Amino acid sequence: MDNGLLVVISGPSGAGKGTICKRLKEEIKDLKVSVSATTRKPREGEIEGTSYYFINEEEFIKRINNEEFLEYAKVYGNYYGTPKREVFKELQDGNDIILEIDIQGALQVKKNYPKGVFIFILPPSLTELNNRIEKRGTDSKEVILKRMQCAYDELDYAFEYDYVVVNDEVEAAVEKIKIIILAEKNRAIRKKAIISKIREV
Ligand code: 5GP
Repeated sequence: MDNGLLVVISGPSGAGKGTICKRLKEEIKDLKVSVSATTRKPREGEIEGTSYYFINEEEFIKRINNEEFLEYAKVYGNYYGTPKREVFKELQDGNDIILEIDIQGALQVKKNYPKGVFIFILPPSLTELNNRIEKRGTDSKEVILKRMQCAYDELDYAFEYDYVVVNDEVEAAVEKIKIIILAEKNRAIRKKAIISKIREV
C-alpha cells in the first residue's frame, strides 16, 4: 500500500495558515493534523493534546536528546517540535498528515523527509498582512513591527518550497491546496504499489 502524504505548511505570521489548516481538516476526510509539542503557555481556549502538547523546557530538551522530534525550533522565545513517532505512525497507516510549522522546522523536515510536499502561504501584500495582524488585536506596535520585518525577510524562503499559495481569499487558497494534495497523491512515484498489484493479475 502507498504511504500517506506528509504536507508541510508554513508562511509569515498573519498569512492565514491556521485558518487554512482548519478548513482543510474540515473538508478532507481522514486528513490528520500533526499536534506539536511546545513550551509556550496555553492561550485561552487551547486544548492540551489537540492544540498542542504543552510541556516545560526541561521535558522538551529531554525529548530533543531522545531524538523524539522530526524537527524542532525556537520561535519567538519558545520551543516547538513535531513528534516523530505520531507522524510516522499516520504515514505508515496510509493517512495523509499536515504539519503547520515555521520555516526553520520546514527546512529540517525537507532534509529528513524529502518526500514531503512543502507549501508556502503568502498574504496578497505586506500592507494586507499588516492590516490583518492589527485587526487580530493581539500584538503591540513593537511586536507588529517585528512580525512585519520577519515576514519581509521570510519571503526569500518561498523558493525552498514546492508550492506558493497566495491567501487573498481563504476558500480559494483552500481549493488550491486541495488540488495540490490530489495531484501529489497521484504522482507516478507514489503509485509503485498499485502498479505492482495491477501487474499481478
Ligand atoms: P503559535 O504560538 O502562534 O501557535 O505558533 C507560533 C509559530 O510556531 C507559528 O509560525 C507556527 O507555525 C510555529 N509552529 C507551531 N508548531 C510548530 C512545530 O512543531 N515546529 C516548528 N518548527 N514550528 C511550529
